[in-house]
Amino acid sequence: MRSFSYSRPATLREACRGMEHTRFLAGGTNLIDLMKSDVERPVHVVDIKSLPLTRIEARPDGGLRLGALVSNADTAAHPLVVERYPLLASAILAGASPQIRNIATNGGNLNQRTRCHYFYDPAMACNKRASGTGCAARGGRNRIMAVLGTSDDCIATFPSDMCIALAALDATVNLYGPGGERTVGLRDYHCLPGDTPWRDNILQPGEIVTAIDLPPAPFGPHHTYLKIRDRLSFAFAIVSVAVGLQVEDGLIRRGGIALGGVGTKPWCVPEAEALLNGRPPSHALFRDVAELLLRGAVADRDNAAKIRLAPRVVERALWQAASGTPQSQTDKTIC
Ligand SMILES: Cc1cc2nc3c(=O)[nH]c(=O)nc-3n(C[C@H](O)[C@H](O)[C@H](O)COP(=O)(O)OP(=O)(O)OC[C@H]3O[C@@H](n4cnc5c(N)ncnc54)[C@H](O)[C@@H]3O)c2cc1C
Ligand code: SF4
Repeated sequence: MRSFSYSRPATLREACRGMEHTRFLAGGTNLIDLMKSDVERPVHVVDIKSLPLTRIEARPDGGLRLGALVSNADTAAHPLVVERYPLLASAILAGASPQIRNIATNGGNLNQRTRCHYFYDPAMACNKRASGTGCAARGGRNRIMAVLGTSDDCIATFPSDMCIALAALDATVNLYGPGGERTVGLRDYHCLPGDTPWRDNILQPGEIVTAIDLPPAPFGPHHTYLKIRDRLSFAFAIVSVAVGLQVEDGLIRRGGIALGGVGTKPWCVPEAEALLNGRPPSHALFRDVAELLLRGAVADRDNAAKIRLAPRVVERALWQAASGTPQSQTDKTIC
């Protein structure tokens, strides 16, 4: 690990002075690994754990605000999350291990970097790590890579489970930085790689995530987070689907759907969600929704199986949500 300077400010203003080559340190479960691997090389590390971003609060509109520094474990176990947003609790519990979820924070989960193995290896070409060096994953070992939202420069998946549920729930992200406060939809927060794959999200220098807002949730029992992975523990999604449905009198009034494991960012297709409105659940409808979600998917050398698997996972998740049987077999209990 290279040497760096360190500070632990007590106020947001101090933390967001916008110094160059700075990284915020929250739980450190991703940043420290990357620094040890010489992938992240911050000159200055701003430890944000003393900032007052540690609360979960009900909003006057019936929604919920999740502080950026609340741990993933505390978020999943919070009574208001369990009661109103079980989809989110389920997605968080499908990720990582109890130990990691105890330390990892909500802001860190949003900003965690890809798990592409070439990105983690400074000896390999990687446009995301070192701009203009090429992409070793193209034509390489790429079974786990993305099939949606890719570019010539990068085919890495976005790895979070939590963010897939947040996208289906249409959450918003609150930011604070040298330019003041602003809010952005979770669906617009992460960037497609395009020809700037090193840019993971829309954060400006010095800008920090302060909280995530969840809108009032009308989904009730009609939700599911279905995650397919190589093994039950410590594995990122090969394909995951977050679904929430508002169902009345046997008709779907509204649906939120997002895919993980297949895209370079949480993958949402508003036309696919709109297709559900006012329709009863049916095999034909769910097949059409799955087809729209996967429209434009492109495989590289090894990852074509994702394009065959994903529609089936989408259809199954939609049936689980529609039937009000949300428990996927991969849900874990809190330890
Ligand atoms: C073995 C292992 C298995 C895992 N499995 C899964 C999994 O299955 N599913 C899954 O979703 N995740 C998984 N993870 C990833 C884990 O969820 C993330 O490492 C964690 O959420 C990051 O949170 P953190 O607080 O530790 O972030 P840190 O490591 O502290 O930070 C990560 C990045 O976010 C930035 N950052 C942190 N907080 C903020 C903020 N408030 N504002 C702006 N930038 C910020 C940091 O500067 C850094 O760039 C796994 C991790 C490990 C080590
Ligand atoms: S897929 Fe992206 S992260 Fe992986 S090697 Fe290529 S450029 Fe780097």
